[in-house]
Amino acid sequence: MPIGTVNHGVTVAMIFETIEKTGHEEVVFCHNKDAGLKAIIAIHNTVLGPALGGLRMWPYKTEQEAVNDVLRLSRGMTFKNAVAGLNLGGGKAVIIGDPSKDKSEALFRAFGRFVNSLNGRYITAEDVGIDVNDMEYVFRETEYVTGVHQVHGGSGDPSPFTAYGTLQGLMAALQFRHGNEDVGKYSYAVQGCGHVGGEYIKLLREQGAKVFVTDINKDAVQRCVDELGCEAVGLDDIYDVDADVYSPCALGGTVNEQTINRIKAKIICGPANNQLATDEIGDELQRRGVLYAPDYAVNAGGVMNVSLEIDGYNRERAMRMMRTIYYNLGRIFEISKSQGVPTYLAADRMAEERIAAIGKIKLPHMGNGGTRFQGRMRGQ
Ligand code: NAD
Repeated sequence: MPIGTVNHGVTVAMIFETIEKTGHEEVVFCHNKDAGLKAIIAIHNTVLGPALGGLRMWPYKTEQEAVNDVLRLSRGMTFKNAVAGLNLGGGKAVIIGDPSKDKSEALFRAFGRFVNSLNGRYITAEDVGIDVNDMEYVFRETEYVTGVHQVHGGSGDPSPFTAYGTLQGLMAALQFRHGNEDVGKYSYAVQGCGHVGGEYIKLLREQGAKVFVTDINKDAVQRCVDELGCEAVGLDDIYDVDADVYSPCALGGTVNEQTINRIKAKIICGPANNQLATDEIGDELQRRGVLYAPDYAVNAGGVMNVSLEIDGYNRERAMRMMRTIYYNLGRIFEISKSQGVPTYLAADRMAEERIAAIGKIKLPHMGNGGTRFQGRMRGQ
């Protein structure tokens, strides 16, 4: 194998300055020419435990774009895992490539070897562009992977757990706003009837709630109408629905300058990631008296569920864990009220306080040499 040539023309464009600002502990550039692997693993913070976060495969136009994405996403995982009360830090990985044509066994096994070399400081999982079959290959090279198939002791599809967790967040929001958790008494505008949205809608309807739905997938909408008794509305009309709660279950950025004047709901609570287009939109919601349940606290069910694979997956424990989302949201709303800050900032503060408190009694996680992940069978 060639050991490479010296190239004096290449600069590491302010990477240390960047990661000093973002607060990252470690950024690993992974390369294997034969497997076509170009990946970046970013470990943001391991004060609470090993950094857990998904692997994303995306045809980034530039390497800079990939670096930006992995730094942003890994930092987000630190906050999400901290608020979720997990003994896990934040990390994320990206593979530069097109998931529709660049996947191979060698690619994922090469990636798995890099994950393994970190000795448990980073634990990977599925994210955009990755499925359970890709994870099977990663799992052949390392045990530091979650979201593997159930036959290996994995936890399976996280969507029903994320939906159940979202319901817990909703109940906390109703309690804070109305002093009751009577889900069935209120009406909901649900955007997206996919994996999580579909399950969430079922939970709402079980309690007799009035539910308006929309989705680009017409069949999914029709199923909600025929089988669950929901009312269908047009894709763009969802923002104008006169409902008590707006639940984004599809894309990010749907609460933005254009929609904020249209959304009538006084509560925004749903599982979609990155719902607020900007922080300023979060400030404006607060000014208008709209209670925003921060997305990463509401949708933590998925990461909670896979985190249980580390000690041996148990469904009962998973359901119990989902219910803690109710208390996490309650705490966020209280911080927001007592400190006079928008809820999205209150969530960040809750995460920072926990990391600071635990940081005083612990050192960064240095890997565990394979002593965790009990109860799972590795192999083919
Ligand atoms: P999914 O792809 O199964 O569902 C998304 C649905 O949104 C699809 O049915 C799609 O047709 C629909 N959609 C796309 N664009 C739309 C639009 N413009 N208007 C209306 N509908 C539109 O995905 P999912 O797993 O259900 O995830 C939904 C959201 O929740 C995503 O933002 C995801 O990042 C987030 N999330 C999911 C999990 C999980 O456990 N699956 C965990 C945490 C966060």
